[in-house]
Amino acid sequence: LEPKEEFDHSSLAVDVMRPRRSDPALAVLTQEGMTVGEVEALVDSTHYSGFPVVVSQESQRLVGFVLRRDLLISIDNARKRQEGVVSASQVVFTEHAPSQAPDAPPPLRLRGIMDLSPFTVTDHTPMDITVDIFRKLGLRQCLVTHNGRLLGIITKKDILKHMAQIANRDPDSILFN
Ligand code: ADP
Repeated sequence: LEPKEEFDHSSLAVDVMRPRRSDPALAVLTQEGMTVGEVEALVDSTHYSGFPVVVSQESQRLVGFVLRRDLLISIDNARKRQEGVVSASQVVFTEHAPSQAPDAPPPLRLRGIMDLSPFTVTDHTPMDITVDIFRKLGLRQCLVTHNGRLLGIITKKDILKHMAQIANRDPDSILFN
C-alpha cells in the first residue's frame, strides 16, 4: 500500500467495508447446520476469495475465516475419498462432532482449514490505523465487527479503491507493494 500522506485520515472502517448499504448481505458460513450442497451453492454463486464463519445467522458472532480455494479443494477431496460424504452431509467447523440423526450421512469436518483468528477491527477504527495494520501484517483482508457482531469485510483492493477515490484517480495507477 502506498504512503500514508495520500490517505484521508477522517475515514473509518465502516466507510470502506463491504457490503455497502445497497449491496447484498455479507456471504457467511455458519459453524454448523449447513450442508455440503448449501456451501457449494454459496461458493458457486459468488466470486469472493473467502468467507467468514459465524456461530449462527442470528448471532453473527465470528468464529473464523475460510478461503474459497481451501473450501473447494476440501469438498472435492472429501467427495472423492471420504466414504459417505454427499450433498446432504453437514459441514462442521466446530471442535466436536455434531449430534445428528443416526441415519444422517457422515458430516464433513472442516475446522482444519479455518483461520481461527482472522484479523478484525471495529467499525469505528480510523482507516489510517487499518491501513497501517494491513501494511505491517501484510493482510489481504480484515473483518469488521460492532459489539462482537460481524458487520463486514475490507480487502486490500477495497483500500486501494478507496484511496484512489480520495486521490481522484484511476485505481490501476496505484501500485501494490
Ligand atoms: P478483492 O477485493 O481482492 O477482489 P474478493 O474477491 O474477496 O477480493 O472481494 C471482492 C469484493 O467483495 C470486495 O469489495 C470485498 O470487500 C467483498 N467481499 C469479500 N468477501 C465477501 C463476502 N464473503 N461477502 C460479501 N462481500 C465480500
